[in-house]
Amino acid sequence: MAKNLWRKEIDQLTPYVPGKPIEDVKREYGITDITRLASNESPYGPSPKAVDAMKEAVHKSWLYPEPTCRNLREKLATRHDLSPEQFVIGNGADHLITLIGHAFINKGDEVIYGMPTFMSYRESTLSMGGIPVEVPLTDDFVYDLDAIEEAITENTKLVYICNPNNPTGTILDSDQIVSFLEKVPSHVLVILDEAYIDFITEKDYRTGVELIKEDHRLISLRTFSKLHGLAGTRVGFAIGNEEILAPLKAVRPTFEVNRIAIAGAEASLDNPSYSEKVLEKIVSETERLSKVYNDYGFDVIGTHANFMFIDVKQDAGELMEALLKKGLIVRPCAPWGLKTHLRITVGTPEQNNHLIEAIKDIMELENI
Ligand SMILES: *Cc1c(COP(=O)(O)O)cnc(C)c1O
Repeated sequence: MAKNLWRKEIDQLTPYVPGKPIEDVKREYGITDITRLASNESPYGPSPKAVDAMKEAVHKSWLYPEPTCRNLREKLATRHDLSPEQFVIGNGADHLITLIGHAFINKGDEVIYGMPTFMSYRESTLSMGGIPVEVPLTDDFVYDLDAIEEAITENTKLVYICNPNNPTGTILDSDQIVSFLEKVPSHVLVILDEAYIDFITEKDYRTGVELIKEDHRLISLRTFSKLHGLAGTRVGFAIGNEEILAPLKAVRPTFEVNRIAIAGAEASLDNPSYSEKVLEKIVSETERLSKVYNDYGFDVIGTHANFMFIDVKQDAGELMEALLKKGLIVRPCAPWGLKTHLRITVGTPEQNNHLIEAIKDIMELENI
């Protein structure tokens, strides 16, 4: 179809390349034992109670879902000690990022975020005719709030802070975020993407929820895709004060989230002990893997998530290929311009053993 029919902004979008699907690796390499550690999914899956609730919901698929997810918002409100009006439920946090673009970005507005980071901020900005302003992370791969502050102009509309950051797994101190929020001018809105906040184990860490309670002006984004193992059903949520969320509610499609997804998310919240157990396993496996990576001379940089960001001190593309041949799918960071880094999701102990064995074989061959 003629490209002149396209909206101008769409032309600049580059489709997101997700981790290689298991089916492709089976076909290309002829192996069946495959472990995919490329997309930060939870290898434990959703809680069995969430599975039951979703099965039950299938029978009601002929009914439209509850439009604003009232029941789910009430459960979230109770859990976070906020009001149900302070939540907007989306078809994954990713779609909320798209909707934030629709709600806030006028043509020519500048949107600032760190680089490397989650690519959706860029897409959502470009598709609205906004101007992405990409500020490099610090040498330690952390969001550089001083440089971001300097990049703010009178045309800035949004600042995205991905905390913990994907793909680097690094976090900012909550005090650093607060002092940044205090300096941000009133024409700028901060979006704190906390897709991995459930994995932060520091006890006194102040999350977006705490900052919203302290009346800081921001939107926090969260998801059921990572810790709760519901990436396939798509549920995410935005938290903020009512006035800030109003335009987001205005652009949100009426039946944004399907019945099955809502049922799964509600049941996950009703059974917190399951996700607590998953979290414990991920934390202990992260510690175990750190030691192994260190033994091979890799530099473990960011671990505040269900993935690890590591400098493998060699061509990461080659190591990734060698791992693929052994049935392991990991994420290279070359698309972000990082040639020696990999992002590897923390799997189950069995999956991680598969990975450790494969790395051992590859590294021993290299050292002959
Ligand atoms: C996974 C991820 C999301 C999107 O989560 P969904 O709810 O699955 O759309 C948002 N932000 C970051 C940083 C992520 O890694």
